Amino acid sequence: MLSRVAEENVEFIRLQFTDIFGIVKNLAITVEELEKALNGELMFDGSSIDGFARVEESDMYLRPDPSTFAIFPWSRAEDKTARLICDVYKTIDEPFEGCPRGILKKVLKEANEMGYTVNVGPEGEFFLFHTDERNRPVFDIHDEAGYFDLSPTDKGEKARRDMVLALKKLGFRIEASHHEVAPSQHEIDFQYDEALKTADRFVTFKYVVRNIAHEHGLYATFMPKPLAGENGSAMHCHQSLYQNGDNAFYDPQSDFELSTIAKQYIAGILKHANAIAAIGNPTVNSYKRLEPGYEAPVNVAWSTHNRSALVRVPPTRGNGTRLELRNPDATANPYLLFAVMIKAGLDGIKNNLEVPEPINGNVYELTEKEREEAQLTTLPRNLEEALEDLQQDDLICQALGEHTLSRFLNIKYKEWQEYRSEVHPWEIRRYFKKF
Ligand code: GLU
Ligand code: MG
Ligand code: MG
Repeated sequence: MLSRVAEENVEFIRLQFTDIFGIVKNLAITVEELEKALNGELMFDGSSIDGFARVEESDMYLRPDPSTFAIFPWSRAEDKTARLICDVYKTIDEPFEGCPRGILKKVLKEANEMGYTVNVGPEGEFFLFHTDERNRPVFDIHDEAGYFDLSPTDKGEKARRDMVLALKKLGFRIEASHHEVAPSQHEIDFQYDEALKTADRFVTFKYVVRNIAHEHGLYATFMPKPLAGENGSAMHCHQSLYQNGDNAFYDPQSDFELSTIAKQYIAGILKHANAIAAIGNPTVNSYKRLEPGYEAPVNVAWSTHNRSALVRVPPTRGNGTRLELRNPDATANPYLLFAVMIKAGLDGIKNNLEVPEPINGNVYELTEKEREEAQLTTLPRNLEEALEDLQQDDLICQALGEHTLSRFLNIKYKEWQEYRSEVHPWEIRRYFKKF
């Protein structure tokens, strides 16, 4: 890394981390400060970072992870800029319990002690909106194209291509990109990797997508449901466990060719699904997406193919055997989300949880009676319900840790209260003239 810094004449280094919402934050240093930074001696004031410290104990340290070194492909030769993703520390040698990256690392350590490496592959969906003459976002969609459309209907093609190129230069292996179902909606998928790397990458992914959109005079939003009546944007999370280099979810002898480990992992996810939703769908708007008819899950069920289920097992077997968790959206902090979903899966394995029968019909079309027979429960219907469910789930609370849990609940209940007391345009349309 140091030789690349010298060879490429890197001038600035951005030390990155995320706040409790998964919003990327950074402190830029000049190359002369790099050594100090690598020793974890770089201090910052954590009291203004959402979900971090109190004013009384606000001095915090950034400890860069050298394996995350990357040069921004768009930086100019005269002020070449690189980044390093950091862990947040309370003192020089004491990790901060509220660092989202640290929270994920703890769960991954647990997986590791059980003999597993966890792979995660996310799908990134987002919308492109216009900007005004001063490059400020306006609520005006950029195209009216649909699934897999081409130009000239798909007006996002060029921006998407530049996003893919920038991501490639940052070391992403891009699997596919396309126009999604809703107008102005796009998707870019990158290859799975170990959970921590994927979480780091997802944060970078959002940052790159937003910046390249900006360069094209557009605004990219990961808001889950910007347009009522259209599909929303998801962040599906494909996941699998590897043991000694082999996919531990694959068993050619077993039903569905899924190992007992895979079934227990799914059972764990289903058991904790409602608490996971609080972290994976953490905004008021998230629940506007989780409605029947838009390819987003509503019921807690799994399926070997159907996209209306919460957990889907795609048909690939062998090394590609994996499950896809379909409720999360990109307003989630990927570190916290991966931490809780993996914790839930491991719980399934540790406690030999039994998976129910898969649901293979369209979950949206089941009658009330069929739903009852299958003992299907529903995901939380709104943020408040999700927060209640989170508090009932000791294991998920424990994965987050007291610090993050209490701040998360505090911030999110305020958000819910604010939403609840607002008088929305729908209410005016519906009641103002009628009564
Ligand atoms: N956009 C859909 C959702 O909100 C998912 C579409 C897909 O399966 O890719 O979940
Ligand atoms: Mg999609
Ligand atoms: Mg998917």
